[in-house]
Amino acid sequence: MMKQSDNAMMRVMVLRGAGDRLQLEHRRIPEPGPYEVLVRVAACGVCRTDLHVQDNELPAINYPIVPGHQIVGDIMAAGPEAILPPGSRIGIAWLAHTCGTCEYCGSNRENLCDHTQFNGYHVDGGFADYMLADSRYCFPLDASLSAAETTPLLCAGLIGFRSLRMAGAATRIGIYGFGSAAHIITQVASHEKRRIYAFTRPGDEAAQAFALRVGAVWAGDSDQPAPAALDAALIFAPDGNLVPKALTDLKKGGVVVCGGIHMSDIPSFAYADLWAERQIRSVANLTRTDGRDFLALASQMPIHPEITTYQLEAANDALDDLRNGKIIGTAVLVMDQPGNQV
Ligand SMILES: [Zn+2]
Ligand SMILES: [Zn+2]
Repeated sequence: MMKQSDNAMMRVMVLRGAGDRLQLEHRRIPEPGPYEVLVRVAACGVCRTDLHVQDNELPAINYPIVPGHQIVGDIMAAGPEAILPPGSRIGIAWLAHTCGTCEYCGSNRENLCDHTQFNGYHVDGGFADYMLADSRYCFPLDASLSAAETTPLLCAGLIGFRSLRMAGAATRIGIYGFGSAAHIITQVASHEKRRIYAFTRPGDEAAQAFALRVGAVWAGDSDQPAPAALDAALIFAPDGNLVPKALTDLKKGGVVVCGGIHMSDIPSFAYADLWAERQIRSVANLTRTDGRDFLALASQMPIHPEITTYQLEAANDALDDLRNGKIIGTAVLVMDQPGNQV
């Protein structure tokens, strides 16, 4: 195992408690455990889930916590049982650990594991110069890819991909909430010859123009009816009012897929809107198989995420801008450390 010098320090942006701003801390660079790798973070995407962690909208957040779960970096040191060697460029996503023994892990549904841990929620994530990760949950990446542009694939892309797969063979798909996940999965869906209808906050012309630019065939306000009956609706905005609205846009047999980890309460609606085998379902987390499948697909297309970059110490600005709807595409933190290729 390569050793860091004993006094090497790193910067982290830490969330000490619910509702706090992130604080800059200097910590000793940690050493990897048996299956772990020490990763020098090149870039880390910012996700709406990071806002839910800041706002204490998820159960049992392990404060103080370093957020961030869309990480591209390089392995600097590896524990004795690690399955990836130093020097590897890797991606780290939301899933940090599963138990491997529960009924979900035993049936190819580790995304539902009873004892999961997630990066930036239960264990410290990538808003940092360095982090530890279990090598069995890391994804090897092509070192020629842009680190900053690859980060959005690791949550927005992956969750969007799992949501799109839940839509089955749908050809006309509504997307409600046009941010990080939507702009990536619109490119995937268009590549698969599907037609994307983008619904944004009423009057958000910038988001509608953005949707059309990345391949949507139509874009409009979320309080307007769809211009054509849809086979499926993917909801990425955390607004429960969109669920009954999306149901009314569906054909018989259509499905509403809720892709977010948190959503405001869903108002009641008429059974007639659900009738004729329409469905509502959620998408939770990801499996490692999703990650491998999606990254393989992404390497063939290719996908072009739109990003806005921030320095690590400006992480609060990135969170604020995401919260205030100022981000087109994905906000990404880049760590200006010696040796990094961003
Ligand atoms: Zn399990
Ligand atoms: Zn995320």
